Amino acid sequence: MFRSTILSLLAGHKVIAAVTTFTLAAGTGVAVTSQVPELQGRRPAKNVIIFVGDGMGTSHRNLIRFGNVGPEGTLAMDDMPVAGRSQTFPHDPEAFVTDSAAGGTALATGVKTYNGAIGVDENGKRVTSVLELAARNGKATGLVTTAQVTDATPASFGAHVLDRSQQSLIAKQFLEGSKPQVILGGGEDKWFPAGNPGAFPDQPAEDPTEKSAGTEGNLVERAEAMGYEYVTNTAELKAATSKKILGLFANEEMFQQRPEGQGDVYKPTVSLADMTSKAISTLEKDRDGFFLLVEEEGIDEMAHQSNAGQVIKAGKNLDSAVSVAVRYAKAHRDTLVIVVADHETGSMAIEDVPALQDDPKYPNESGEGRTAEDGPFSVPGTDKQFVVDWTTANHTAEDVPVTAMGPGSELLSGVYENTHVYDAMVQAMRLNRR
Ligand SMILES: [Zn+2]
Repeated sequence: MFRSTILSLLAGHKVIAAVTTFTLAAGTGVAVTSQVPELQGRRPAKNVIIFVGDGMGTSHRNLIRFGNVGPEGTLAMDDMPVAGRSQTFPHDPEAFVTDSAAGGTALATGVKTYNGAIGVDENGKRVTSVLELAARNGKATGLVTTAQVTDATPASFGAHVLDRSQQSLIAKQFLEGSKPQVILGGGEDKWFPAGNPGAFPDQPAEDPTEKSAGTEGNLVERAEAMGYEYVTNTAELKAATSKKILGLFANEEMFQQRPEGQGDVYKPTVSLADMTSKAISTLEKDRDGFFLLVEEEGIDEMAHQSNAGQVIKAGKNLDSAVSVAVRYAKAHRDTLVIVVADHETGSMAIEDVPALQDDPKYPNESGEGRTAEDGPFSVPGTDKQFVVDWTTANHTAEDVPVTAMGPGSELLSGVYENTHVYDAMVQAMRLNRR
């Protein structure tokens, strides 16, 4: 009874301090030391940083680890005290497997919906996102991605449209509706109308299909009129001093994904770590705290192209950004950090090299056959190699891993629906659900 009274009293730091003093006064020194971690764990999260590795299933996290730090190494995203598993199926009249829009909307709003839906429920009705709730509760907010900033995952947190393809409308809703203070990523083509290339030329050599095709006028001009500082490269991003920053660093995704064997390129001109670091230092100026979404999209896109080598690179970019957040959270204990995925892509297996593995007793069932994009890959810290085998070039229904640290992270232990990630963030920040 005493304990439940304490927990029901917990509304903020002051109350925790009072309870601790009271417990000490009651002379139960042992109880204090055993209760303090639990009480601290139930402090509100002032800040939340959620990382979405798009398409990042368990095997992807293993691939990223083996390929970058070896089997004995530890990724920042794995070096967290809480682990859980998220179930990703959508509420779609036809599909059993989710896309990034329904998956993103479930994480962002706590509502399962149909594939393609951005921030709306099964009936097309708007549902409020955790980013919008955080803003209404006085917090600063930000969206960071290596995809178009208007792509499905960031869109789910800051817009409401019936179909994910309406990317210029999504950009306009960022400016008029959810108003994140920091918007960083690719997708400049959605912000400029046809004929105005913006900072990145139309029909560039690396992908002649890319050209400005915005449907809502010049939205960069609109953003600048609203006080956003507009930046297009790392130097400008680092030099930016405004409280509001719009950074667009590519026409479309910040990498080039291509059909099997045609040479995917994963070399974002601005690192996800630099974007994350700038987003944090800009948003943390708000005394009410902040909510930040950081997405890495190449893991999904390169898995769609069955390109394991590029998934390893994309995963490294993500994990470096997670390191930035972990460093921040260790210095600011009121910060909850979550690493999750919207779904799994490719149902990929990590296998011994063919000479060791291809046993006539157990014939390999994969369809495509091996290509140079599947390895063999060297394993850091060992003399071993592995190859990668893909089951599909599409999404699967596999659960995805979740790791977390900081206040409220304990809510993410266990196995749950993807919608629970939303609930956990809202609860951790004690957001008023108006
Ligand atoms: Zn996705």
